[in-house]
Amino acid sequence: MGTLVGEVKVGPIIYRIEEVPNLNSDGAMFSGLIHYQDGLIEIEAGLGDQAKEVTLLHEVIHAVLDDRGVKEHDEDLIEILARGLLGVLKDNGICKRFYPGGMNVDGERDGEEGD
Ligand SMILES: [Zn+2]
Repeated sequence: MGTLVGEVKVGPIIYRIEEVPNLNSDGAMFSGLIHYQDGLIEIEAGLGDQAKEVTLLHEVIHAVLDDRGVKEHDEDLIEILARGLLGVLKDNGICKRFYPGGMNVDGERDGEEGD
């Protein structure tokens, strides 16, 4: 099982990515949680690699919407987008640094070299 590490930048905000065992909020279990104010995305540590990727993308879509001022998010639509986008990204070799041996979004910032 791969381990998510690093950060993901969405608009002006850099979200730290942390894997958490038995991720929950007020007793309810979650695959992923995003804390906009804290710049933190938490992912359930026990998920498989594919589920971690989908979950991270799901939380990133929340972050994109929040960054654009959209505060009401349709969970079903976000999940459809996360799964669909992950497929498109993988099928077209886009954003490869998401997947070597599990997701690794630790990487270059804008302005640094890299592809
Ligand atoms: Zn969600």
